[in-house]
Amino acid sequence: MYKVKFNSPYITGLEIEYIQKAISTKSLCGDGFFTKRAQELIENDLKVSKSLLTHSCTASLEMAALLLEIKPGDEVILPSYTFVSTANAFALRGAEIVFADIRESDCNIDENKIESLISRKTKAIVPVHYAGAPCEMDRIKEIAKLNNIYVVEDAAQAYGSTYKGASAGALGDMAAFSFHETKNIVSGEGGCLIVNNQNFLNRAEIIREKGTNRKAFYNGIVDKYTWKDVGSSFLPGELIAAFLTAQLENAALINQKRKMIWDMYFEKFEILEERGLIFRPRYSESVQHNAHMFYLILKNQIKRDELIHYLRERGVEATFHYIPLHKSDYGKRYKKNLDLKITERVASSIVRLPIWADMGDLCNYVIQVVDDFFKEKND
Ligand SMILES: *Cc1c(COP(=O)(O)O)cnc(C)c1O
Repeated sequence: MYKVKFNSPYITGLEIEYIQKAISTKSLCGDGFFTKRAQELIENDLKVSKSLLTHSCTASLEMAALLLEIKPGDEVILPSYTFVSTANAFALRGAEIVFADIRESDCNIDENKIESLISRKTKAIVPVHYAGAPCEMDRIKEIAKLNNIYVVEDAAQAYGSTYKGASAGALGDMAAFSFHETKNIVSGEGGCLIVNNQNFLNRAEIIREKGTNRKAFYNGIVDKYTWKDVGSSFLPGELIAAFLTAQLENAALINQKRKMIWDMYFEKFEILEERGLIFRPRYSESVQHNAHMFYLILKNQIKRDELIHYLRERGVEATFHYIPLHKSDYGKRYKKNLDLKITERVASSIVRLPIWADMGDLCNYVIQVVDDFFKEKND
């Protein structure tokens, strides 16, 4: 029997060399050589004009909420089927969270269910690119424009994905990425904020530097730096940036390796889908995803739980995913949107399979065990 971990970060080998180099310069706080290098790599990769390294996607979303000047009474629309940080960043500023349902095909926010949730108080829509697959952004941006509200992409999982040829992260007013150990490109903890709407650029740099104009000072634009605005310390140190630089230089390779595993799963499970036993994700022509996650949707929760148990007994770490936020202890306080049926159905019937860049033949073992499960429990 094999042991198959759910996730295992890919290490390029250059990380330690770059960290060594950072140490030798004795410049270890934020915004040094490696931070600049990492930001340039991101900007070139995604074809965006500004990226700012942060210490997490959570921090990036909190910066976005500060930049939008979210205050009590404002409403923010986001899927219930997401990680807590998507909501928390705005809840921290006192916003009312309005939960939208998702689509069955790809578990992304259902763009057709957004308009009915908009009110005079709506300040922003936060689409989450689930499993790294971009949401239907043309429609979402159109709705935002018509209603004069902002779009912040939670692109935590979507580094390297595209929508109609444009990168995830290049589509909203702002976007937040994660480099947490569980994502494709990692630095342990880490993230970045992409600022596409130029109106937010100046303040973004101030908020990230404790509310000071330190950046302008270092660039020789002002002769002393001082308290200009609210802010916090959102920037990572150089050791993290050095590690991340090694990863970003190999981002295409890492995503390509994951894609091979993803394609293998997708192809091999076609038969089970034809037999009506499972559903695989379905993506539109507009979407190229980064193979962040591979999941199957089972017929119901009982079958799903049985499959997870069966896999675990055979050494395969498979798992379910989010508890819908509207069902969570804290999330229950927000107004009930009546129709979150697909969110609830998906949450109770999804199983995520192990996927990581160098898992190699282990993916065949996972496929075998899933096949065995359906042979034994043939219904
Ligand atoms: C991972 C993740 C986050 C949080 O990322 P951190 O870098 O750990 O803060 C937020 N949103 C989504 C959708 C995520 O998958």
